[in-house]
Amino acid sequence: MPSQRPVINKYLEIVVCSAMLCALLLSPFSQAADKVYRLKLAETWPTNYPILGETTKNMAALTESMSNGRLKITIDSRNKHKAPLGVFDMVKAGQYDIGHSASYYWKGKDANTLYFTTMPFGMTAVEQYGWFYHGDGQALMNEVYARHNILSFPGGNTGVQMGGWFQKEINSLEDVKGLKIRIPGFAGEIWSKLGAKPVNIPPGDLYTALERRTVDAVEWVGPSLDLRMGFHKIAPYYYTGWHEPSSELQFMVNKQKFEKLPADLQQILKTAMRTAAYDMYIQSHHASAENWDSMKKEFPNIQVKTFPEEVMTAMRRANDELLAEYAAKDPLAKRIQESQLEYQEKSRAWTDIADKAYLNSLFK
Ligand code: CA
Repeated sequence: MPSQRPVINKYLEIVVCSAMLCALLLSPFSQAADKVYRLKLAETWPTNYPILGETTKNMAALTESMSNGRLKITIDSRNKHKAPLGVFDMVKAGQYDIGHSASYYWKGKDANTLYFTTMPFGMTAVEQYGWFYHGDGQALMNEVYARHNILSFPGGNTGVQMGGWFQKEINSLEDVKGLKIRIPGFAGEIWSKLGAKPVNIPPGDLYTALERRTVDAVEWVGPSLDLRMGFHKIAPYYYTGWHEPSSELQFMVNKQKFEKLPADLQQILKTAMRTAAYDMYIQSHHASAENWDSMKKEFPNIQVKTFPEEVMTAMRRANDELLAEYAAKDPLAKRIQESQLEYQEKSRAWTDIADKAYLNSLFK
């Protein structure tokens, strides 16, 4: 008789397992767990654009693997959707679920979107990440974007952007007068206040414009993305940055689409965006180091310059005037500016005796 017990146990095991399997398959939990969610992302960049385009692919791959295939994201670049600066409207309207772009492109739609990319004379990337993730940055960005049915998150940082490639040296404020420089946005307004003539030229025409001296200077990004543009072959002066110390891209998510996702997929999406954003910051640093090394080897006569003090002082004054104009028009703009300034002062006091002191102490 004892020899029959394993057979009965085996039979019971099968019955119990089948019942459990049926219960699992019929439960609403299992349906939710099996359901595949698909989201469409529109990016501002062309297909396979280095670093920026890798960030969206990285984010989508992380989302899919962390969700075990339950959340899939397809990416349309500007070549497909044809609206690089329409990403905000497309995400707002739900035509796309996610966007990857830069907040300062939307200044014309809502002036307060300006503050969430980078500010002239503002925070460095690590300081700004502190403001976003541990200070009031994310909450203030939420407040601005709530008006547009959009959730916005940091989307990857270029690090300090260079001041631009110049055909002639800038030694005084006099040299700035009438200077034709390609530089968009807020920084362009500052150059304009100093008497320069900022122009906007499509990226594909920039090399020729600089080579034929249609413009005297071109601001782009930094070695990470400048190398492929070839400016170093035709302009001798590479000025250091002041206007975009930490350009942060953004992921935008349509609010309703985000809320329809189960809680675990929402968390996975947020984690993937944060990881991809941070990875872009590191990759930008790496690519700039590699590319700067190549540029110097190929063109050892490139001269790195910093704008003279009188130009920097004038730019800072123009920046303060512009910020005051924006703050006077809108109490939310004033609150964001105050939050940034307060965070920057506190954070910079530490940066000064940490990173800055370390580098200065090397006397090299
Ligand atoms: Ca730039």
